[in-house]
Amino acid sequence: MVTTPIGGSGGSVDIEGRVRLVMESALTARDRVGVQDFVLLENYNSEAAFIENLRRRFKENLIYTYIGSVLVSVNPYKELEIYSKQQMERYRGVSFYEISPHIYAVSDNTYRAMRTERKDQCILISGESGAGKTEASKKILLYYAVTCPMNDHMAALGDRLLQSNPVLEAFGNAKTLRNDNSSRFGKYMDVQFDFRGAPVGGHILNYLLEKSRVVHQNHGERNFHIFYQLLEGGDEDLLNTLDLERNPQNYQYLVKGNCPRVSSISDKNNWKVVMKALPVIGFTEEEKLLNIIAGVLHLGNTQFGEGEEGETYITTETQITKLVKLLGVYCDAFLKFGVVRVFVSLQMISPLNFEQAISARDALAKAVYGRTFTWLVEKINQSLALKGSSVIGLLDIYGFEVLQHNSFEQFCINYCNEKLQQLFIELTLRSEQEEYETEGIAWETVQYFDNKIICDLIEEKHKGIISILDEECLRPGETCDVSFLEKLEDTLGGHPHFVTHKLANGKTRRVMSREEFRLLHYAGEVNYNVNGFLDKNNDLLNRNLKEVSIMKIDKVQAATQFKNSLMKLMEILMSKEPSYVRCIKPNDAKQPGRFDEVLVRHQVKYLGLMENLRVRRAGFAYRRRFEAFLQRYKPLCPETWPNWHGRLVDGVSTLVNHLGYKPEEYKLGRSKIFIRFPKTLFTTEDALEA
Ligand code: ATP
Ligand code: MG
Repeated sequence: MVTTPIGGSGGSVDIEGRVRLVMESALTARDRVGVQDFVLLENYNSEAAFIENLRRRFKENLIYTYIGSVLVSVNPYKELEIYSKQQMERYRGVSFYEISPHIYAVSDNTYRAMRTERKDQCILISGESGAGKTEASKKILLYYAVTCPMNDHMAALGDRLLQSNPVLEAFGNAKTLRNDNSSRFGKYMDVQFDFRGAPVGGHILNYLLEKSRVVHQNHGERNFHIFYQLLEGGDEDLLNTLDLERNPQNYQYLVKGNCPRVSSISDKNNWKVVMKALPVIGFTEEEKLLNIIAGVLHLGNTQFGEGEEGETYITTETQITKLVKLLGVYCDAFLKFGVVRVFVSLQMISPLNFEQAISARDALAKAVYGRTFTWLVEKINQSLALKGSSVIGLLDIYGFEVLQHNSFEQFCINYCNEKLQQLFIELTLRSEQEEYETEGIAWETVQYFDNKIICDLIEEKHKGIISILDEECLRPGETCDVSFLEKLEDTLGGHPHFVTHKLANGKTRRVMSREEFRLLHYAGEVNYNVNGFLDKNNDLLNRNLKEVSIMKIDKVQAATQFKNSLMKLMEILMSKEPSYVRCIKPNDAKQPGRFDEVLVRHQVKYLGLMENLRVRRAGFAYRRRFEAFLQRYKPLCPETWPNWHGRLVDGVSTLVNHLGYKPEEYKLGRSKIFIRFPKTLFTTEDALEA
């Protein structure tokens, strides 16, 4: 038989196109490429063994490994030939354990579960910045767009689903130090399917866009891609109409990071992609959109001077003319308030000092951009709107983040991760427990860290951090970030997961600054600097602008808004059957072939993978439906080969007796066999290979 290897993923295809599975569990292969499911690790309590398994597989370009049904994925930082249409076909309709781990296996399994069990599904993708979450979510979408049954109308919908990505990425992604295409917002996308299993609609929820990036970027980072795309890709006429010059260095909002170009990104090509995508997703107000983007750039170039009596005036009058031309027309209509007019009249109503004027300008830019993003998402949702009968949700949301300086944004992001971890623990434990119950098998409890205490610390009414923050924001009179910190200390001092520079005995903890509080998250300790917390929580516009009565301002503070949207998200996710993709970044240099063990160990820890494995292993390492087990191993027993004619459970019983399984090694449930130790299965696998 002639065989051709398929992209290093452990399988081969014979000339008739039939897939013949080469199980990686055969001894020699196992030494080289590790095990494809961590539950098969002999030493499953050892973190070192876990990481060694990941490393071996990574070296062989086997970037996917399971923990039971959870997919662990390591970013290869290079194109692997494992995503072709041929590969999609290979995974279609094939059971999870019969084939090497892959994002397509998760996609397919989820799809089939939705179809056969008639239950809504969701795929939760997590991991730190640059770990490959967005790439994974795009691969899942592509899998559905290619493999699901579709007529022309549906194909157009599939196209819209796919084309919404470049648009959202242009406006919501940016080059950061960690990732050249970093998503600066959280995204939950529902894909809706009709009764035939064809995708018919979609819906996107977006979370906490990092608006501060519009006005400031750290060294080596950029603003959102769209600004550079417009300047690089827009033709002369367009730039003239928008009063823009081509060089990004001419715009104050684009120079902070000193990084106008990125070698891995072609702004010019991406501009074309975005412009092509806009009509596909049914977007017709391109002109408005570009006016706003240009308007934000002009806003950034608006400069101020200080008069003799301390009053502030605008030194760049022409900027204002440009601004009014670009933004003014649309502001009332869809930004809900006349930003420009307010901005101009503000100078007369309540004179600002120099710093206040700058922060008012920046607050406007952030508000305008933030609302534009929301508007864009609404437009995309309108174009995808069509209710299907069942749903697969995809969650691509920021992972746990510890930077050198952590602020309000990291606080929200890490809070989100606490919530997801809580959900993860609950659902993995719950489903495990449920499976043992339905199969009639006794359950053994596993000790795990319940992070509810941290979630409460953050979100509890009246005494949680968010409540205290809101109170400080709304309290009349002089409040500032430091008074917020003091309030935290008064209320939360002594909490086991909350630390500040103050020690219980009244002394000072030297290693901490007086502007910081530390949270002991499930994933590790993070120090948050309270500077800017109040303003960021007040969100849209700063206090001076709030006083201007013509402004309509959302009453709910940013952190509470975020908390509420997270609660809703949790409800959505709880109502669905979850699958997990845990993404790992192998090195900080964004390079292929490099596996930094320290970095990986850290991620394994905070993704809770060892705990996950322990839970999975607590009862039985492996489980298989009777028919699948019989089908695979029946050649090993004369009584079951070539076919077993009695009840399936008796067939399996006969087979394992023949194989010499000891009673403590396995249990027979109602529809599945549960095998306690990986070794048992290895021996059986090896017998099959022999
Ligand atoms: P962030 O939280 O910053 O948005 P992320 O987890 O979404 O990060 P991605 O943008 O998906 O990270 O991945 C970062 C980069 O890594 C991609 O632009 C791509 O170059 C590379 N990458 C990720 N996954 C894969 C993959 N499966 N194959 C090849 N390259 C990949
Ligand atoms: Mg991303």
